Parts: sequence; C-alpha cells; structure tokens
Amino acid sequence: MLAKRPKLGQHFLVDDDILNRIAAAVPENCGLAIEIGPGRGALTQRLSARSRQVVAIELDAELAAALPGRCGRSERLEVIRGDVLRVDLPGLIRTRTAQRAVVVGNLPYYITSPILRKVWAARDVCGQCVFLLQEEVADRIVAGPGSRDYGYLSCLARLCGVPQKLFIVPPDAFRPQPKVSSAVISMSIDSAPLADGLLDFLGDCFRAPRKMLRNNLCGRFAAEALAADPCGGLRAQQLSLEELTAMWRRLSARQE
Ligand code: SAM
Repeated sequence: MLAKRPKLGQHFLVDDDILNRIAAAVPENCGLAIEIGPGRGALTQRLSARSRQVVAIELDAELAAALPGRCGRSERLEVIRGDVLRVDLPGLIRTRTAQRAVVVGNLPYYITSPILRKVWAARDVCGQCVFLLQEEVADRIVAGPGSRDYGYLSCLARLCGVPQKLFIVPPDAFRPQPKVSSAVISMSIDSAPLADGLLDFLGDCFRAPRKMLRNNLCGRFAAEALAADPCGGLRAQQLSLEELTAMWRRLSARQE
C-alpha cells in the first residue's frame, strides 16, 4: 500500500520555540503582514500579536474557514481563501496600506520557487520576506560564487537583497514530519526595479551550469563578441552577480 502523503504540502509546525523565533524575525508593530499558507494558525496568532494587520492566504477551504476561530476572531486578521499564486499581491497590498508589506510563511514546499519569484517580483510592495523552506533551497538562495549550491536562484535572490539563513528547523518540529531538513531565511527586499533583460540573461548563463558562458549564450550574442569577452571561457558558477551583470552590460553594449 502506498504511504499517505500530506496534501498541499501540509506540514504543520508544532514547536513553540521555532514558531516564536519565526515571528520574532518580523519587525514589531509591522503595518501589514501577509501570511502564505496559515494552516491551523499557529504562526498567524503570533503574527497578529506583532502586526497591525495580517492577511492570511490559504488554499484549503476547511482550514481557511476555521482560521478566524482559531485566532480568537482577531479584528487584525483577514483570511483570503485561495491559491497564493493566483492572488494579485501588489493590488492586495496597495488597497490595504501605503507601506510595503512583510511576507511570511511556512511555505508549501511543492510551490516554493514560484512563490519566491512572485514575492520578489512584487518588490515595490513587499519590503521583507521571512520564509521557512527546505534547507536545500535555503542553501541555494544564500550561496555565493564557487559554492556548489550557487546558481540562478542565488543570483535572483541577490538581485532582490541580501538573504540570510537564520536557523535550521529539524523534521520533528512538524506534524506530519517532512522527509527533509528545513531552514528559515529572511531578506529585506530592495525596491529598485530590475534592468530589463537581465533576468533572461542570467537564466541563459545558468541553463547548462557546466558549460562555458560563451556556449550558453551563443543564441543571444554574436560568437565574435563572446570569444572576445574576458569571461566567455568561464562558467556562470565562477562569477558573482556583479561580474555577470558587468558581462551582460559589455555584451549588450556591443550589440547597440
Ligand atoms: N503555517 C502553518 C504552520 O506553520 O503550521 C501551515 C504550513 S504548511 C507547510 C503549508 C500551508 O500552505 C498549508 O496550510 C496548505 O494548505 C497551504 N497551501 C498549500 N498550497 C497553497 C496555495 N497554493 N496557496 C495558499 N496556501 C496553500
């Protein structure tokens, strides 16, 4: 018989100390906290104590309906029943506050990457994120050049701010327990808009991480320009975000 798998990535935190430490990473008196996947509300209650407003987005209809009762029907709490990936995050935040929100969550691991991309893309309205996610993903987010974990996700994170891995969360802090170790990351998100085309360039740089950049980028720039570039014979993993960005500017300038 197949083992029963928790639906919707539902691994609930049951360790008070871990829950308190995650909540403590959110600034006290925070204007608006958006919680992704509140589940049974263990973190939501703590966020409500620190924030003037909490908007909790939960896909599971039963959990969403039970949440206000579990949180003492706090006036600070608003529950949205829906898929976080379909929510208009900038619209939601702008209609509730003029400030940038803090986005928090013990994330459903099956959609970690799209959630990260969505929150980091909403940089004009999201000022900070505090996420519990798989430790392996946390390591990729905070990795620097030369590390085996360094890649597109590390560069994407660095474009948005300086991510910090705060602490590790063992499987026994959850019910049911996940098979992997988890970690909490926090990041202040830079509001400056990204240069057009840079993300696509970085995606191409890391497409085949073992290949030299001139091979990964041959569909985008002339072979002559790539051969002349001082970094063309290197792999993306050897270069920092600043060096990759400088390469992109050099190659783009040659095309003009
Ligand atoms: N915050 C709770 C805790 O720490 O105990 C629950 C965290 S659990 C890892 C992830 C939560 O995300 C679950 O409650 C699950 O139902 C919810 N979820 C899964 N997919 C979702 C989605 N697409 N949009 C919003 N919530 C989702």
